[in-house]
Amino acid sequence: MPFKYEMKPSLGVFSPYYYFIFRKNDLLVFFEKSRAAIPFISDITELNLDIIRKQYFGSLDNYPCYFGEVSPDIEPPKGMAFLGLRSLYEVLEEELLWIAGRALQLINWDRTTQYCGSCGVRTEVNTKERVKICPSCGLLNYPRISPAIIVGVINQKSNQILLANGTRFPSNFYSVLAGFVEPGENLEECVRREVKEEVGLEVENITYFGSQAWPFPDSLMIGFLADYTRGEISVDEAEINDANWFTKDNLPPIPSKISIARKIIDWFVTN
Ligand SMILES: [Zn+2]
Repeated sequence: MPFKYEMKPSLGVFSPYYYFIFRKNDLLVFFEKSRAAIPFISDITELNLDIIRKQYFGSLDNYPCYFGEVSPDIEPPKGMAFLGLRSLYEVLEEELLWIAGRALQLINWDRTTQYCGSCGVRTEVNTKERVKICPSCGLLNYPRISPAIIVGVINQKSNQILLANGTRFPSNFYSVLAGFVEPGENLEECVRREVKEEVGLEVENITYFGSQAWPFPDSLMIGFLADYTRGEISVDEAEINDANWFTKDNLPPIPSKISIARKIIDWFVTN
């Protein structure tokens, strides 16, 4: 049974439980052979950790899932480690990785909404939905989600895809273009603007591809395909080191399989 997101344990959810414990942005894991695992326990004293912000947030296969965090100076229990989520994608089961991503977003939300951003009064936790309420001015604070478009620009005539190496990429790979949605903008407008700004090209036939939560730190990636129509590549040097057209059999290093960017590129390769 997949992960079920809920505020309180429902009927049939029982111990032991998964415990997603963070130190800053790093998740507590242990290794069995070369695979990473999440603590699955019935008694928190087994871990001997001082945990704050413990909250239930859903169940996996009818086992409860809790998250919590420890202060930045805490050492991991013997045989365990705090590791960044990005570094875990090849060694931790993918479903657990995405659940950990949800947990991390909720912890960050809980920590940063202790006080009302408008009037400074201490907020209260709603018990029915995940929102903090200011008892003084009524301001609602939902967990922040930042929508971003990601687009595979295709040249139908030459059967090539546009890929770029961004200035903020952690390594030398090339990927499809992406950017955050601006206030007041719809997704198609965002696709056109980002492609124009980043590489100077114009597109049409913008079609939905799929979406992916991307908890680094709180994005929702909304994927599209679009056809190149006109323009010469001219990169925005603040954002892009290099951009170019690539055929299926001539691809540069591309992102890991976990990302929707890779799913768009894989779609291009198999179509
Ligand atoms: Zn307030």
